[in-house]
Amino acid sequence: MSCLFCKIASGEIPAKLLFENERVIAFEDINPQAPTHILLIPKTHFANVGELAVGESDTLSEIFLTADKLASQLGLAGYRTIFNSGAEAGQTVFHAHLHLLGGRAFTWPPG
Ligand code: AMP
Ligand code: ZN
Repeated sequence: MSCLFCKIASGEIPAKLLFENERVIAFEDINPQAPTHILLIPKTHFANVGELAVGESDTLSEIFLTADKLASQLGLAGYRTIFNSGAEAGQTVFHAHLHLLGGRAFTWPPG
């Protein structure tokens, strides 16, 4: 499987890890859009959040819990979490990943 995030999950491609357990890995985004920009992924391959919800709903819940814990550990005053799902929504890597963004003020609606 030539999936970039599967390779990061297996350690084949290096990343700056912030958290890892049997099911979830969190690492720094290579092109950060905020002072804190972390990606949280299931170790198992799912193409998008919908497939993750069907296949491993406990892992989806764990990803949000891990994001909230990391935000606390990093002292973020607030944070934004995003799953881009589908190319039209801006998804470019088709292995489900939660963006955790913080460290600056955000506007709404998003671009
Ligand atoms: P998305 O556009 O929602 O699919 O998000 C993909 C994210 O993966 C982008 O924010 C990229 O900057 C990030 N990204 C791509 N390659 C890497 C990599 N090798 N290590 C860390 N983050 C990456
Ligand atoms: Zn994958």
